[in-house]
Amino acid sequence: MASSPTIVWLRDDLRVADNPALTAAVERGAPVVVVYLLDEQSPGARPLGGASRWWLHHSLASLGRGLEAIGATLTLRRGVASVVIPGLAAETGAGAVYWNRRYGALRDVDAALKSRLSADGLEVTSFSASLLFEPWAITTGAGDPYRVFTPFWRACLAAGEPRSPLGAPTSMTGVVVDSDELDSWKLLPTRPDWAEGLRAAWTPGEHGAHDRLEHFVNNGLALYHRRDEPSLEATSRLSPHLRFGEISPHQVWSRVQDGLTPEAAANRAKFLSEIGWREFSYSILFHLPQLATTNVRRDFDAFPWQAPDPAALAAWQQGRTGIPIVDAGMRQLWTSGWMHNRVRMIVASLLTKNMLVDWRVGEAWFWDTLVDADEASNAASWQWVAGSGADAAPYFRVFNPVLQAERFDPDRTYIQQWVPDVDEPEYPAPIVDLAHSRLAALAAYEAVKAAKAVSR
Ligand SMILES: Cc1cc2nc3c(=O)[nH]c(=O)nc-3n(C[C@H](O)[C@H](O)[C@H](O)COP(=O)(O)OP(=O)(O)OC[C@H]3O[C@@H](n4cnc5c(N)ncnc54)[C@H](O)[C@@H]3O)c2cc1C
Repeated sequence: MASSPTIVWLRDDLRVADNPALTAAVERGAPVVVVYLLDEQSPGARPLGGASRWWLHHSLASLGRGLEAIGATLTLRRGVASVVIPGLAAETGAGAVYWNRRYGALRDVDAALKSRLSADGLEVTSFSASLLFEPWAITTGAGDPYRVFTPFWRACLAAGEPRSPLGAPTSMTGVVVDSDELDSWKLLPTRPDWAEGLRAAWTPGEHGAHDRLEHFVNNGLALYHRRDEPSLEATSRLSPHLRFGEISPHQVWSRVQDGLTPEAAANRAKFLSEIGWREFSYSILFHLPQLATTNVRRDFDAFPWQAPDPAALAAWQQGRTGIPIVDAGMRQLWTSGWMHNRVRMIVASLLTKNMLVDWRVGEAWFWDTLVDADEASNAASWQWVAGSGADAAPYFRVFNPVLQAERFDPDRTYIQQWVPDVDEPEYPAPIVDLAHSRLAALAAYEAVKAAKAVSR
């Protein structure tokens, strides 16, 4: 049995149960140093937005309690991974470093660290924990990544059942080393404290994640065929919990296999295919780590985005566009850190198509305000709506927010909830003419088609 400590470096996997790196460290037998590193400086690191910082604070506090209950301690460090992790290894005399994989630009950081620590004689092992299917394992017959969701997901399902989730270790021998105080990271907003709506809506942490899953399985899943209606609680709202890895997709998958009512079981495949969109987004990110800044379809580089009019952009951000379903979504986002998926598509379509604002501007706003802001799903979804993404909606399909609201919020419950002033005289007139701006968008798209024709 090994005696030199094992470092477990946690990142987007803030859970004790079904955590392969943590379980392997316990099995190795030596004392375990569990560390979370706040790294905003490594190449490829993108500082978290405000809502995510709020979530991270509470998630780490919860994780610390979860680890203490089984004998370990969460060590918090801040700095560049290439300095801090080898430093911690030297300080503790560690013989092994374990982590669960990540799939974006930061995997270069991980690869470099793995070589360096291995060269120093440490055992370095990475584990699969955050995705049901590793992106490199799902390829077309020709060995290329899938560009279209349906065959991608079919290939995933054909690859076999995902592994069963691992239980939580029941006890560990932790190593106590110097740790930052969580409060010193100042992740929570103070002046002003805008997080009241977030506190009311969410319980970050592993317990909160499992409570949310149980609630959904027992209530929402049977309604999931009506998931496009934003006034209903028909979707799981697991996205921030999955984003921070407080629950794994394996645990979600496993939970919905048995013990469902017939009505819930009828919606299982559809629900799992939405988890599949998360896998698809990560597959796209894996093959294009610059997904948040680079068009998947390079012919979109020729798109004539308009410099955003500051007043119009502020109206979009603050939910004052005069288009009720859009304002409802943007206010839901601002207040609760989350927005219903159908409405995300509607507000993104208004920004990128009717207002001709570059999808990166919208992606950045969501990055700052969503509690589930995710390096893969956010960028992939923005590109999907804008038309520049993999398997994107055809550009000419411009969402009409008025018709969308009539169809998915026919009695205006959602609109009334978030825009109680909708019928007041002060409520603004629409900032864009939907019909004219649609035609302008289609005309702008001609530039993409022309660029494509030239490049052929
Ligand atoms: C413009 C835009 C931006 C988005 N940004 C994000 C983001 O930053 N983070 C994020 O997790 N999702 C994002 N989505 C996808 C989707 O809107 C959310 O995942 C979903 O609304 C979360 O609610 P839920 O947990 O109740 O979903 P459910 O319907 O219960 O789905 C279960 C899980 O599947 C995953 N999922 C569902 N739909 C999608 C999808 N279209 N793409 C990727 N994963 C999906 C999520 O992890 C979700 O928690 C975005 C969509 C759009 C149109």
